Amino acid sequence: MRIALFGDIHANLEALDAVLADAAGQGVTDYVCTGDVVGYNADPVACLEKVREMDCPTVKGNHDEDASGIHSLDAMNPIAAAALQWTRSQLSDEQRQWLRRLRMVRQVADFTVVHSTLDQPANWNYVTNRFDAMANFSYQFTQLCFNGHTHVPRVYVKTDKVNEVPAESVVIEDGAKYFINIGSVGQPRDGDWRAAYAIYDTDHKLVVIRRVEYDIATTQKKILDAGLPPILAERIAEGR
Ligand code: ZN
Repeated sequence: MRIALFGDIHANLEALDAVLADAAGQGVTDYVCTGDVVGYNADPVACLEKVREMDCPTVKGNHDEDASGIHSLDAMNPIAAAALQWTRSQLSDEQRQWLRRLRMVRQVADFTVVHSTLDQPANWNYVTNRFDAMANFSYQFTQLCFNGHTHVPRVYVKTDKVNEVPAESVVIEDGAKYFINIGSVGQPRDGDWRAAYAIYDTDHKLVVIRRVEYDIATTQKKILDAGLPPILAERIAEGR
């Protein structure tokens, strides 16, 4: 079985469509979403409805939580807050409720999915080094766990110690645990503008990060036309 894991879509419809087309071409039969369906970019409604229609296991991201609440966004960085305020104005009550009801952690088949980290997932901590990863592994009871949140593909392996290994392609070996960040569909931050997602091949015990080109000019035009901060159109071209 080939399972696509995708997330941090952030309302980028062109990137989402390109990822789903690529996954279908790769023989993927099942889909799992690691959250942050909305926020930043200009297609929150279309992306939410597409993911909802797929009816795949989906966990909640911090932008999903912020977009579906009514709490103040003052503590946030002003650009993300402006985008979230706009996103709130686009979503219906019923769409906000769908986001609000997403769970923080899900177990799917033989793996776990979380947006940030299994160590206090509602605190939205960023995992950027092996010490952060160790905190996650303390709560990881499956061999594999997939996350997102930093928008940078990263793989941590726990044997008798925890190490980071290259993320492009990972063979799952017995006796080790894996914490795999699948990168971001709609706003990559590793310097590569192309949409990122992962395919988990359960028969071959292999996880591969794929990068997919999409019609970024259309996405950028929509961001500017919506009156969102122009920096959001610039950053997706730079992958940061
Ligand atoms: Zn995100």
